Amino acid sequence: MEITEKFTNTDHEQVLIGRDAATAYHGIIAIHSTALGPAVGGTRFWNYNSEEDAVTDALRLSQGMTYKTALAGLPLGGGKSIIIGNHATSDREALLHVHGRFVETLKGRYITAEDVGTSPADMEIVRLETQHVAGLLERSGDPSPITARGVFRAIQASTRFVRDTDDLSGLSVALQGCGHVGYNLAKLLHEAGAKLIVTDVNEDSVSRLVDEFGAESVRPADIFSVRADIFAPCALGGVINDETIPKLKVKIVAGAANNQLLEERHGAMLRERNILYAPDYVANAGGVFNGCMELLGWNADYALSKVDAIYDTILSIFESAQAEGITTNKAADQLAEQRLRSAEGL
Ligand code: NAD
Repeated sequence: MEITEKFTNTDHEQVLIGRDAATAYHGIIAIHSTALGPAVGGTRFWNYNSEEDAVTDALRLSQGMTYKTALAGLPLGGGKSIIIGNHATSDREALLHVHGRFVETLKGRYITAEDVGTSPADMEIVRLETQHVAGLLERSGDPSPITARGVFRAIQASTRFVRDTDDLSGLSVALQGCGHVGYNLAKLLHEAGAKLIVTDVNEDSVSRLVDEFGAESVRPADIFSVRADIFAPCALGGVINDETIPKLKVKIVAGAANNQLLEERHGAMLRERNILYAPDYVANAGGVFNGCMELLGWNADYALSKVDAIYDTILSIFESAQAEGITTNKAADQLAEQRLRSAEGL
């Protein structure tokens, strides 16, 4: 009942819940909008506390994808799918086959790719059941290095706005999540001379950054109170909230995680604390640009030029937020909504 209510209270086009008794598959596909084109968005494989929590996440993530593709000027809409379960212990292969068949039922209205808990190799398995999947090994592959490059450009745009320089040497970055994007971002930041303070719930991932980039590590709960120039959330969403904002001792929040603000009002709370927020779906759009090599036939140079242009997009959002006296997340949403409105009736 609550799940139906949740869906009724949003403007999503379609939400599907799939089950398969033989494999214990329990999945969700949420399509927020196909106004600009087929809905794209990765498959998250995660152990949620309840189906309701997973639906909430799918609704938020798919809406974020619509705004991301709209703002990026792409002929694509927003969707997301979730496989509920422990991605480390489940029978992955069987579940990915069922998931592929679930995606196939939509006949291309939704195109999937990897996300938290899934990999390009997993997408090869999904591909055995449906052609509506991107991020395959032999094609655009793992989007994380390109996503990290986009986040790096967003961080540079943020320091340009706050400190009037793109030079990150000597700056400190508190990095949450040392996974696919976190690792690649740490590498770029280290090469640019930044100092890293990192955390992850997975200790092996942390050790890799400590060994390779001389990062300092802190416990997961302590990352929010680290005194640094930048906080880069690269784990899960909702980390900027009533509890964490008062703890932050940074000037900039810019990272890869989707839905970093638990609620829209948390953007205003950051602004009140004079912390500049690089809207997540603009900063992390590199993954979608990477997928456009497969979906829209872009070549690698063109995709990279779009990723590097995240710098200009973020700067222009900061400037219009400042000029209008609104939050940076609101300024980004306004731009995306403008594009969606212009597609109405097409
Ligand atoms: P990933 O699964 O490789 O890495 C996420 C990491 O976060 C894992 O190492 C996990 O252990 C860690 N983590 C989870 N909860 C944590 C916590 N409470 N504290 C500290 N660490 C925690 O995923 P990824 O591909 O690196 O993606 C990271 C984020 O960026 C996700 O929110 C994803 O949606 C977003 N994103 C990724 C891409 C991409 O190209 N991979 C593109 C756009 C957005």
